[in-house]
Amino acid sequence: MPGHLTGWLGEAANRRRGVQGVRRRRILRPLDAVRVQDGERVLLNFSSNDYLGLAAHPELAAAASRCLAAGASGSGASALVSGYRPEHRALETGLADYLEREAALVFSSGYLANLGILTGLAGRSDSVVQDRLCHASLIDAARLSGARLLRYPHADAVAAARQLARSSGRALLVTDGVFSMDGDVAPLPGLARCARASDACLVVDDAHGIGVSGPGGRGSVAQAGLGPIDVPVLVGTLGKAFGCAGAFVAGSRELVEHLVNEARSYIYTTAMPPAVAAAGTAALRRVREDDWRREALSERVAAFREGARALGLDLLPSDGPIQPLVIGESRAALAWAEALHRRGFLVVAIRPPTVPAGTARLRITLSAAHETGHVEQLLEAISACREHP
Ligand SMILES: *Cc1c(COP(=O)(O)O)cnc(C)c1O
Repeated sequence: MPGHLTGWLGEAANRRRGVQGVRRRRILRPLDAVRVQDGERVLLNFSSNDYLGLAAHPELAAAASRCLAAGASGSGASALVSGYRPEHRALETGLADYLEREAALVFSSGYLANLGILTGLAGRSDSVVQDRLCHASLIDAARLSGARLLRYPHADAVAAARQLARSSGRALLVTDGVFSMDGDVAPLPGLARCARASDACLVVDDAHGIGVSGPGGRGSVAQAGLGPIDVPVLVGTLGKAFGCAGAFVAGSRELVEHLVNEARSYIYTTAMPPAVAAAGTAALRRVREDDWRREALSERVAAFREGARALGLDLLPSDGPIQPLVIGESRAALAWAEALHRRGFLVVAIRPPTVPAGTARLRITLSAAHETGHVEQLLEAISACREHP
């Protein structure tokens, strides 16, 4: 490696060490829907976004296997060249039907969906107004669009209206539906009113809401009683509650047509493997039909919150599967995660810059696949860690 590159990387590595910011990957082998093997140790996983317990569902694997057995593993080209398959079309049609929108467009990931949507809808003379806690992909997307980026304090619709009043050109008002690191829900009715009053387009990224919350699992927008007029651009991912991979935007036919032509992260990347699209359709069936998964999940959430309150733990205002315990400093959050790991639990510490400085946390996530006993065991372990850190 040339000396200057070694020097640059060394400086960055020192800086990371200085702020407890070194990140490592663990090789985890899933044993079932909630247990993973980490080396010699078996851990109960409380750090997955597989909220409905679908990632290990045999119907998803069977759908993907059938597709793989029939032929190609890869789609061979981008969708506009020759990579668009019946499996992609079926998934888009199914998602549009489920979310009661005219059309849907499937991207290879949520990160790419957000890049394509914001750069496809806003340019240099436009404005993007965003919640301060929006997901990194939305921040990056706004930056890449070249639009003026105006941010407002978390979940503050009044401040959003002030920023919209300062905006120029076309304005996009952008928010997570359910916030990824806090688990709370955006003030969607208030934001919809602001957007309407200033002719802005409301974009909701409901990566953690669709499949989980609202009537039939149709997400936080449906939960708030809002529809396509209020939220013309609705984003979801297939990597979380759907237990699969990829993402989508749902909206009008014109929106999808526009993005197919303008969204560079759709145009200039190989289409999702058809087997993944087939698994996505199988997941959608379970998401639509299995209300019992959402019921089981909300029981686990209630049990966790009740138990945590009894232990005197500070909870954030979330009634969904994301139940963070804010610790504060990164070092302390890492020590908690390590102590829980020794007791057989995978609970990952989330540190700055993913969350604001001073709010490092254990991002506990619950799944329909957890049993009540698992939640009790986690609470006991947290209590034990507090007494003997
Ligand atoms: C996870 C997430 C994404 C990214 O989705 P992927 O499909 O994992 O790329 C986008 N937005 C939000 C709010 C997310 O939580």
